[in-house]
Amino acid sequence: MNDWFVVDEFEEGTWCIQEPYHMEGVCSYLVLSNEEALLIDTGLGISNIKEVVEKITQNPVEVVNTHSHFDHVGGNHRFKKIAIHKNEARHLERGHNPEMLQYWVEPEMFIKPPPVGFSPETYSIKPSRPNRQLKDGDTLTIGNRTLQVLHTPGHSPGSICLWEESAGLLFSGDTIYDDPIYAHLPHSDFDDYVRSLSLLCSLVPQISKVFPSHGQTPLEPMIILKIAQAFQQVAQGGVEYWFKESPWGRVRVYQVDGFSLYLK
Ligand SMILES: [Zn+2]
Repeated sequence: MNDWFVVDEFEEGTWCIQEPYHMEGVCSYLVLSNEEALLIDTGLGISNIKEVVEKITQNPVEVVNTHSHFDHVGGNHRFKKIAIHKNEARHLERGHNPEMLQYWVEPEMFIKPPPVGFSPETYSIKPSRPNRQLKDGDTLTIGNRTLQVLHTPGHSPGSICLWEESAGLLFSGDTIYDDPIYAHLPHSDFDDYVRSLSLLCSLVPQISKVFPSHGQTPLEPMIILKIAQAFQQVAQGGVEYWFKESPWGRVRVYQVDGFSLYLK
């Protein structure tokens, strides 16, 4: 029995596989049809996500990564079929070594101790090889379900959301989640983020649920408008900010209507 992950069926055939005992609160999602399954992200790689997936379904599984950051690709190496946006496909083949990841496995990152057998000193993300490179507008079809790729750069250059229009479900990766919004990373881009948010705002009337990659899930679609408004206000200037030290150096922290935005 794996007790690192918390598993929940949110909608019929749509499962959340969360890692709530790490501060990142990472959420991966399993989308099922009668014949196949799609695993949206593979988590931190602290425990074996494939084991958990195989308890839910015996159908063949294809992985799709919302982007290449370590906390979304930790279990990739356990799977054969992997899709990711073309802008970040090459990042998967590099993996992440223990020195790059130490900050994330310090004792204070864990809400309960990591699983027996996990060693922070040797924690790494193994390289994986994508067999499909995605672009905006591509579709992923599993049986009778179709998810459309929305290229939503900003958090990272190859960030995507997956949009199941027939059910109104938006899998939002690290583009939309509940606070603080990370737009300060080395490859983050504020203007791209604003454009991506305006695309997502246009979908809000059709969205029933948002499934983010971190923290509280699911979210109501209104959160997209709130984040977009926060970015707009920062873009217009006049919002006060302060500095905070982070693993990426000093970042600017803005607080707008209860939302924190981290910018370079
Ligand atoms: Zn990320």
